[in-house]
Amino acid sequence: MCNLLIKTEDSAFRFGITNLMHQIFYDLKKEGVLTIVELAQGAIACADIIVMEFIAGESVVCHQTLQTRKNNSIIFGFYEGNKTPYSLELPLCLSNTVFISKSASINTVREAIIKTWMVSPDSYKTYPSRNCFDCKHRALSPQQINFANLFDRSEKMDEIARFLNINTKTAHAHKLIIKKKYNIDTDLELLNLLRIIKVKDCASELCFCR
Ligand SMILES: [Zn+2]
Repeated sequence: MCNLLIKTEDSAFRFGITNLMHQIFYDLKKEGVLTIVELAQGAIACADIIVMEFIAGESVVCHQTLQTRKNNSIIFGFYEGNKTPYSLELPLCLSNTVFISKSASINTVREAIIKTWMVSPDSYKTYPSRNCFDCKHRALSPQQINFANLFDRSEKMDEIARFLNINTKTAHAHKLIIKKKYNIDTDLELLNLLRIIKVKDCASELCFCR
């Protein structure tokens, strides 16, 4: 029995990956053992495989909702573009994540999933508990939160600088440091990531939407 959870709002992607997983399990003579779990309370805790999408920079962000995952569950993380997400030191909540490009051929995706799934689950690191308190994720400093809050509303560096009472050069420096911290290249990627962080941290002291 394998519980598969697919976290995406992209219905075409969901349809494709669901069919592919069923096909893989059928070919591996494991038909009938794959159960698709609906995203609801408790779903993450019972999933053996989680398929989810990652935007640029998201692989170093803490995903607190994933800390209730099964100890040796596997995440297949699909990303856009050619830049593989940083994965040398993943946050604890993202351990055992295999990143796959969304633009990879169906055969490449298939091989990556089979290669991972055919390995004995015992080969995957197991964690007694995933506590995001100890999670090695990257977070914004209070100063960067102030910058991010303003950048989310206006991308004009001179306006941000005036509001923060700093010079424009320093405002640009804040932006560059944040981009470097999350290993992202463009302003659009930065905006998208900041919006994800904002949602995740909305209930915490890191929230910059207040
Ligand atoms: Zn975490």
